Amino acid sequence: MLCAICGREGRGFCWVSPPRAGTKRQFKRFCSMRCQDIHARRAKAGGGVVIDPTHNEKAAMEAVLP
Ligand SMILES: [Zn+2]
Repeated sequence: MLCAICGREGRGFCWVSPPRAGTKRQFKRFCSMRCQDIHARRAKAGGGVVIDPTHNEKAAMEAVLP
């Protein structure tokens, strides 16, 4: 499976959208923590709220926030 950000081969970094009523859960794969961070930033900018973040999601958010 390819990285959802840059299109390189995914390497085990992944993201699953939080469950929301009426929406299908999304699953995305990334090649690196960097691409995962980019996705987390985009999701946040798009108004999405990370509910019950995982350890990796928390680390990603802390890495990108000032
Ligand atoms: Zn990538």
